[in-house]
Amino acid sequence: MRFDEGFLDELRSRNDIENVIAPYTELKRAGRLLKGLCPFHNESTPSFTVYPDNQSFYCFGCGVGGDAITFVRKIENLTYTDAVRLLCDRSGMNMPFDTKDDELGKLKRRTLEANREAAKFFHSMLLSPQGKPFLDYLHRRGVSDEMITHFGLGFAPDSGFALLNHMRKLGFSDSELIPMDLCRRSQKGRAYDTFRNRLMIPIIDIRGNVIAFGGRVSDDTKPKYLNTGDTVVFKKGQGLFALNFAKNGGKRKLILCEGYMDVIAFHQYGFTNAVAGLGTALTPEQAKLLSRYADEVYLCYDSDDAGIKATNKALAIFEKTNLKIKIIRLRGGKDPDEILRLKGPEFMSAIIEGSKNNTEFRLNLEREKYGTDTGDAKNNFLNAGVKILAEVKNPVELDIYERQLSEETGVSMDAIKALVQREKQRELGKRDIERFENARQSLRGNGTPIPGLREHSSKAASKAQRIIIASLMKNPDFVKNVEKRLSAEDFIDKFYGNMYSCILDRVKNLRSTELISFSDELSVDEMSLLTKITIENRDITNTLGEVYECIETIKKEKNTEGRIAPSEMNDQDFLALFKK
Ligand code: ZN
Repeated sequence: MRFDEGFLDELRSRNDIENVIAPYTELKRAGRLLKGLCPFHNESTPSFTVYPDNQSFYCFGCGVGGDAITFVRKIENLTYTDAVRLLCDRSGMNMPFDTKDDELGKLKRRTLEANREAAKFFHSMLLSPQGKPFLDYLHRRGVSDEMITHFGLGFAPDSGFALLNHMRKLGFSDSELIPMDLCRRSQKGRAYDTFRNRLMIPIIDIRGNVIAFGGRVSDDTKPKYLNTGDTVVFKKGQGLFALNFAKNGGKRKLILCEGYMDVIAFHQYGFTNAVAGLGTALTPEQAKLLSRYADEVYLCYDSDDAGIKATNKALAIFEKTNLKIKIIRLRGGKDPDEILRLKGPEFMSAIIEGSKNNTEFRLNLEREKYGTDTGDAKNNFLNAGVKILAEVKNPVELDIYERQLSEETGVSMDAIKALVQREKQRELGKRDIERFENARQSLRGNGTPIPGLREHSSKAASKAQRIIIASLMKNPDFVKNVEKRLSAEDFIDKFYGNMYSCILDRVKNLRSTELISFSDELSVDEMSLLTKITIENRDITNTLGEVYECIETIKKEKNTEGRIAPSEMNDQDFLALFKK
């Protein structure tokens, strides 16, 4: 969707970048800049920088950058239009027009409205005489009234039409309620309530919207849990229960539990950083979401076989993130709820303190599987252990485990070190090929730039391209002269050629060439790169003459080398390029 520039100007002036970013990371003033820990990657010293003067941000650690809209896009994982909408809502502005594009947006808002009404209805039902058995059930399980209100717990009556009738009165039609999965249609074509005779747990996203419900029975009826199916505001495997509370609950550490009731118990006893998945095994999306709010995650799954399986699956997913994972081994009760009630929060704290990291946990499992009694057992344990240790990055930590493995198996420290090293090499080889494939694909795919490829032209030529782009953005009046000497095809990298065309087009149409004005045309990655270029050249005061020199540099590079574009290279040359 293309927005009117006047509208975007107002949106930007009402959404100062500093204020937009502030809720996600703490910013400290450093001269004319602000610095903080990057919300997009794990770091202990701030490389995330905000530039109030041109309303942009850039992370020198992970290379993400852009304007306020790009920030919201990236951090909330939204489309450009949805990011604009969020900033609109935030600053009390109206979206400029409702076109067909916006049908989906309307539907989403209507669904959220219905969910909110349904949650209110369920909650009032829990406190009504009808809900008494469920309220008693909650009290029996030790859930306090405070938590019932805090989590907005509710009750769905058994009649099958209670919510339906209520929602009809509020003006929602059956054909609206069914895609929202608040109601379903019987074979005879009659609408009825999706949730019947269940304890209702609203799932609330980080913006405070009710996006779905979990419904739990109070007896042995199956299924024990029923969750809202996919709707326009909720997809299975996305989102986390209680993240809206837990994201501020404690020092970038989160406890990931199996069930809603575990989470409620944790919160009641002061562990306000507990969250749970929504009825599915952990998904990569959820892991990513966790890493946005935490550096460390305590996995708190049941200690039975199913729980260990779930833990292992989750660990495999967490490997692709930068999160530090600890595995809590519950004892003193069957679940957190029972442990907290019977043993109290101090006991639980001790369990959490004593939780093992990924390496310890996996070594433990292998040790239990093979034992260390016989030669064969030791050998099996050694092989499995070496594979685990090959993934340990911290050298001090690695040394400790190597020593431990050496003692347990009776194999010398040197031999273990050599085995681990060999395994590491093998893993690295695999990863190189993966990275190469990814790079290759994205190059073939759409010609967007690849970070690893930026230096493939000579340093001077690469720099020249960036200076040209930055200069023209700063001095649109250069365009009419530069245009006579330079065409988009003269650029060595396609990205810069495209940027150049884009700038020419903007100048001709009297549109802005400021960095922040590009966010509607560029992807987040492209925007990041453009921000980087702007920052590199933020203090340049070059003249038209200097731009001409840059043009000569890239033309010379192109002519003398007669080089093959990376997309035309054979795999071997390409790989060589990539390894530089
Ligand atoms: Zn970063």
